[in-house]
Amino acid sequence: MAENKGILVVGEIEEGKLASITKELLGGARQIADSTKEEVSLLLIGDKASSLAQEAITLGADKVYLAAHPSFAEFHSEAYAFLISELCQQVQPALCLMGQTDGGRDVAPRVAARLGAGLCMDCVEVKFDPQQKQILQSRPVFGGKAIAVMAPAAGKMQVDTVRPKSMAPLAPQAGRSGQSTPLSLSFDPAQQKAKVTKREKLPAEGIKLEEARIIVAGGGGVGGVEGFAMLKQLAQGLGAAVGATRVPVDEKWVPLSQEIGQTGKIVSPELYIAVGISGAAQHITGILNSKCIVAINKDPDANIFKVADYGVVADFRQVLPTLIEKIKSAR
Ligand SMILES: Cc1cc2nc3c(=O)[nH]c(=O)nc-3n(C[C@H](O)[C@H](O)[C@H](O)COP(=O)(O)OP(=O)(O)OC[C@H]3O[C@@H](n4cnc5c(N)ncnc54)[C@H](O)[C@@H]3O)c2cc1C
Repeated sequence: MAENKGILVVGEIEEGKLASITKELLGGARQIADSTKEEVSLLLIGDKASSLAQEAITLGADKVYLAAHPSFAEFHSEAYAFLISELCQQVQPALCLMGQTDGGRDVAPRVAARLGAGLCMDCVEVKFDPQQKQILQSRPVFGGKAIAVMAPAAGKMQVDTVRPKSMAPLAPQAGRSGQSTPLSLSFDPAQQKAKVTKREKLPAEGIKLEEARIIVAGGGGVGGVEGFAMLKQLAQGLGAAVGATRVPVDEKWVPLSQEIGQTGKIVSPELYIAVGISGAAQHITGILNSKCIVAINKDPDANIFKVADYGVVADFRQVLPTLIEKIKSAR
């Protein structure tokens, strides 16, 4: 078997555009490939794929594989796992990168199992170590209490999913050249063990949590819909997104799309304001990439203060109105 070489990025398209995670993965992959002097390939799926190939090349791709067959028009884990595995068999990359997104989380383990490849999910860093001359992957473990650094097994293909905002996109290089190749692969629907019977878009208003620079998040301590109205006011003043722990979601104060944590969204804002949040490990694991965490909690022993950069021990009802006013008057 040929030696595995280069990096294959599995791209995502959102509303006809390259998703931010794809631009980030291309930037990260380019950095590694420049050290190893290897190629970066990108897989783009769907009828918009060919129109985005040139942009992907300006962002670091050397080759773009285009899968436009109608059998891949809608996301389906079995069809996508088949497509990605088939392409990996052809290209034989050393590393296949996907986003730690709903799709990536679903497909990556299937691809790794099909290929007998190594798998590292939820990486916060993937880099080339010039001293050890190998790729190193870092991911949070023990609910975010420690970071494990792992190297792929020698001679094996490696599949990684990477958290949004863990890699930086490159500034587009207009003159960069590359190659795009249509793929003739298709998927026989008869091979599908599961069928999609209905698609429902979760209600989402305002800025997407995964892309937000600032997040105001509320927990059980916010106490209800009225408390969240106050959080929304603060978020509006700051141009922030509103997030939540599982408690407000279970209580139906906010929709499921706003849950952050192990079973919710993984976020990486510059500023995370945690209001009435205890700091359970399942929530903390979703906010570890935040640059600065500010916690407001009336319990001085709340676990959230262990990860917070700044803490306010107080009832949020006494703190937020002043904060909202100050932000209003400063604008
Ligand atoms: C398998 C599994 C997966 C899970 N996944 C997730 C997940 O993805 N995301 C998630 O968030 N949770 C998840 N959970 C649930 C998690 O374990 C916690 O139960 C949850 O995060 C607690 O939410 P909370 O801190 O908002 O609520 P609480 O535990 O109710 O804490 C409320 C906090 O608010 C403070 N407070 C109360 N009143 C005020 C006030 N007026 N002003 C200021 N502070 C106040 C209290 O001191 C307390 O610290 C999961 C659990 C399991 C078992």
